[in-house]
Amino acid sequence: MNFLSFQCQHQFSSGFEIDVAFKTEGLVTSLFGPSGSGKSTVLAMISGLLSPTFGKIRLGSKWLLDTDQRFCEPVENRRVGVVFQDQLLFPHMTVNVNLRFGQKNENIKKPFEFNRVVDVLELGSLLDRYPNNLSGGERQRVALGRALLSSPEILLMDEPMGALDDNLKLRVLAYLERVVNEWKIPTLFVSHGQAEVRRLADWLIVMKKGKVLSVGKPDQVLGSSTSLAWTNSVGPVNLLRIEIAYKRDDCWIGKIGVQELNLPPLKDLNLKPFYVRCLPSDLTLSVQDVQGLSTRNHLDGIVQELVELSDRVLVRVDVGQTLWAEVTPQAMRELKLYRGLSVTCLLKTRSLKILW
Ligand code: ADP
Ligand code: MG
Repeated sequence: MNFLSFQCQHQFSSGFEIDVAFKTEGLVTSLFGPSGSGKSTVLAMISGLLSPTFGKIRLGSKWLLDTDQRFCEPVENRRVGVVFQDQLLFPHMTVNVNLRFGQKNENIKKPFEFNRVVDVLELGSLLDRYPNNLSGGERQRVALGRALLSSPEILLMDEPMGALDDNLKLRVLAYLERVVNEWKIPTLFVSHGQAEVRRLADWLIVMKKGKVLSVGKPDQVLGSSTSLAWTNSVGPVNLLRIEIAYKRDDCWIGKIGVQELNLPPLKDLNLKPFYVRCLPSDLTLSVQDVQGLSTRNHLDGIVQELVELSDRVLVRVDVGQTLWAEVTPQAMRELKLYRGLSVTCLLKTRSLKILW
């Protein structure tokens, strides 16, 4: 499904130029890229807060902008719900009043129903509270609820979880997932987190310096070294998707294709699929069959790519899914790593973190 097609050019007086074109695929699209690459500017053009010099924006079957035709839909007529990182809720109004602010029901075929929004976001117990007495995660849920109650045709979110710590992020992410599943609302969200992109997005657009750097399915785009161009300092994060997990004797096992991965204890075997995170530096590569090691996990794979950075080498290995391993330049030479080589990835169970 293509709900948004976007093509705009604009130059700020500061000299910054943005020239971006993309079409979305699927329901949830993520905009990704370093600070200053123009992500918020793209959202401002869609919501109508900024009119680009040239451009065409189509949402569903409706044009929001077509400078060739001198057409620009005014902000107040655009049915766009916006959620920012630092949400501006009215401090002197209760959650209830904040939620009802901007609520639109008239002339809308299927408005979002107040009680349903409150249920899905579990806001019932918060209705009489004031924003200052809410946690960061609760404030984001209220903000999301308020955006939904304007009955938008698209939800735009600018780093909605940027200000939250890791645990809270996961909880808000779970609410976002519920919202998308419940209302099937097209969503475009700006994110810095590879994990949240992989979990939530069907489609990923990577931006850099006002241009689109790459576009595609999140796993493919994040698994390629193009997107590493800007993550040099942090490197890639390994996320293995586990569809099947079970307990054998006293061990928890997850399947990666036909291979087995020993997992840390799982609280709930029914929560599937889930992701397991590990860092490239947690992996050891071996070019020989290894035995007699205490490391439990041996995943066989093929080297796909070597990315040489100044002080280390990132090795992309296909084990059925993509795994990045980090080795020293000396290790690369001694192991004689090359594309197509069969290797074994050794991974301590303790270095694996279950994400959900
Ligand atoms: P991102 O959201 O990816 O961090 P932004 O879209 O906020 O990036 O900004 C991209 C660039 O555009 C920055 O260099 C910023 O200074 C510039 N910019 C954004 N808004 C304006 C504006 N209203 N006037 C001048 N320059 C702006
Ligand atoms: Mg921004």
